[in-house]
Amino acid sequence: MTGFFDSLTGAAQPPLFSCFPSRNVLQWTKTAREGTSVADLNTDIRFIKGVGETRAKALEKLHIRTLGDLISYYPRRWEDRTKLFPIRDLPEGEYACCRAMLAQEPTAHRISGGQTVVKVRAVDEGGVLDITFFHQEYRKNALHRGETYIFYGRAEGGGIRRRMANPLLEKEGGQQLTGRIMPVYPLTAGITQIMMAKAVRQGLDECRDLPEDVLPDEIRRAHHLCYAGFALENIHFPTSPEALNTARRRLVFEELFLLSCGLSLLRQRRESVHGLPCRAADMSDFYAALPFALTAAQRRAIEDAVGDMTSGRPMNRLCQGDVGSGKTMVAAACVWFAAQSGWQSALMAPTEILARQHYENLAPLFARFGLRCALLTGSTPARERRGILEGLQAGDIALCIGTHALLTEDVTYNALGLVITDEQHRFGVDQRSALSRKGSSPHLLVLSATPIPRTLALIIYGDLDVSIIDELPPGRQPVDTFVVGEKYRLRLNAFIRKQVAEGHQVFVICPLVGEEDDLPDERKAATAYARQLREKTFPDLRVSLLHGRMKAGEKEKVMASFAAGESDILVSTTVVEVGVDVPNATLMVVENADRFGLSQLHQLRGRVGRGKAQSYCVLLSDTQNPETRRRLKALAATNDGFRIAEEDLKLRGPGDFFGSRQHGLPTLKAADLSCDMPLLAEARDAAQTLMAADPRLTAPEHAVLRRRIQALFDLNEGTLN
Ligand code: ADP
Ligand code: MG
Repeated sequence: MTGFFDSLTGAAQPPLFSCFPSRNVLQWTKTAREGTSVADLNTDIRFIKGVGETRAKALEKLHIRTLGDLISYYPRRWEDRTKLFPIRDLPEGEYACCRAMLAQEPTAHRISGGQTVVKVRAVDEGGVLDITFFHQEYRKNALHRGETYIFYGRAEGGGIRRRMANPLLEKEGGQQLTGRIMPVYPLTAGITQIMMAKAVRQGLDECRDLPEDVLPDEIRRAHHLCYAGFALENIHFPTSPEALNTARRRLVFEELFLLSCGLSLLRQRRESVHGLPCRAADMSDFYAALPFALTAAQRRAIEDAVGDMTSGRPMNRLCQGDVGSGKTMVAAACVWFAAQSGWQSALMAPTEILARQHYENLAPLFARFGLRCALLTGSTPARERRGILEGLQAGDIALCIGTHALLTEDVTYNALGLVITDEQHRFGVDQRSALSRKGSSPHLLVLSATPIPRTLALIIYGDLDVSIIDELPPGRQPVDTFVVGEKYRLRLNAFIRKQVAEGHQVFVICPLVGEEDDLPDERKAATAYARQLREKTFPDLRVSLLHGRMKAGEKEKVMASFAAGESDILVSTTVVEVGVDVPNATLMVVENADRFGLSQLHQLRGRVGRGKAQSYCVLLSDTQNPETRRRLKALAATNDGFRIAEEDLKLRGPGDFFGSRQHGLPTLKAADLSCDMPLLAEARDAAQTLMAADPRLTAPEHAVLRRRIQALFDLNEGTLN
């Protein structure tokens, strides 16, 4: 196999980094523009010199498929290996470089397990460095007394005698491993840092007369941004910390600028489409049928939506409200309103449990108006399903509630006028639009209980109008939240009993055993935990179990029986996180609470406090990490989802919101929204100015920009309605 690693380290090849440190990149970028390109950004990385099939496969796991992907695969961090320390000044326990001369020939020693270690002592003017190499027997014959090297490693010990294990080393002036700022990339199996750096180096070299600068020159200058070439070069291989900052600033700006321009194009496209016409209707008929008066915030959201639906443009609205704020009724009002004009609606929920709950709430309500509802999920029996499909096609069914099953090919509507997705963060734009395509530009309403900080909402929901329900129905008491450690276990158990004795029910979110909540052994953990509660802790109580790996039908049964009061304690993984309503549940216990994000904990907490009785949330955590303790305390101190989301954003960065590509917008590669907000504002301003002057980016000087945005947003056909 001849991968790029082999070919580039082979003797005949020039050293990979040789041209790097001295190159004047600014100049390089300018002159390069006149050259001819050898590869374009869409070149498959397999064809990049030295990459080859095997590594291309590994890189694919990092979503690197093309040259463009490769050069925009930015380091996660950088290691400054430019500074040389005298041995005695090496910072203890930290990676750093020193220059030292070998004071002896290396010696090899057998240690237990049949391994050989190589030891050698190096010195400089004021210190001694004892070096040990593990698994590197070849060092014994490769190193010699009297030679001087730059070592890079983590020094142990204090004073003038230090130790270092497995340092990197090279001759002074080598400039490959030391003497420079090194990129550190997120990796995957089969790819090492060095391979990655070499591949990127190669990639940058192959497209040196690319990429065309997407930023119009006057914007680049007005915002004091460097050229794209300089930025790309220095984000990977910075010549200095300042160059790195300059590069990063440019790339972040560019990314947010492209995003802003793209969102503006999306919005324009949406506004050029005709909305399905809706007749004005008196909502008070609907309101009168409800068992309660709507809150002012609910009414406002409904008015916003009704306004959209009569505007002649398709509605594209996000309705955001904390858990329990009553978003379902807003959706119901819209369904009713659309039905007055003869439109059918589809309501898509992320889980069967939730879909069923909506169905059970809404079907009787609509029945009063003679409007028929149907529930369509993966577990709907075939015969029933056929009936529903017929009803939808004939237009007899006014509202179809369901899960992803609503997206299946054979589901067709007579007159789909309104598409609602609940708990939007679980669906991507793709799914939303797949559903939309079942009608012709139907109105779209998105419900979300994840309060997104406004700054982020601009990006995530940039293409949506937003209504916020900032008021809870009257009589709700805030959930009392406590953060406690293991030593409260007995008291907590007693408290659980007390709640049950009073006729209430308890959720226990079972401990997470790994990094992510959707682990392969989720079932095992939850099952074992439930058994322990059932057999040891609460043998006298009814304990049921719910986890994400159960069959949909089983989940239904468990949830329905819990909701019906047939069990006292529901042990669950985070599948109960969204939407499920059990007003009689008054206590939420979360094990290992420190493993969850604040917003997620807030969502979980929202499962209780839905009835009249005082409700509680107990977060168990023995974490000693002061920061984690602080954020759990912060959660306990407020019930305001927006403040919690802001806090989450500050503490964890936007990963929670942005972690997956579910929002369907381009992934941010350079920007870190927990610290790049000022730049976001600047980039948005720039984008707005530009888009005001050339709304469709048709000017020839914006052609590159337009192409890039199209590629980024994949704006081919119907990405959005
Ligand atoms: P969410 O916004 O979390 O989806 P829901 O729509 O499920 O909230 O509403 C939570 C509970 O509050 C439901 O039981 C619902 O019937 C009830 N509810 C909704 N609006 C009101 C209101 N205006 N007054 C009283 N109860 C309401
Ligand atoms: Mg809901």
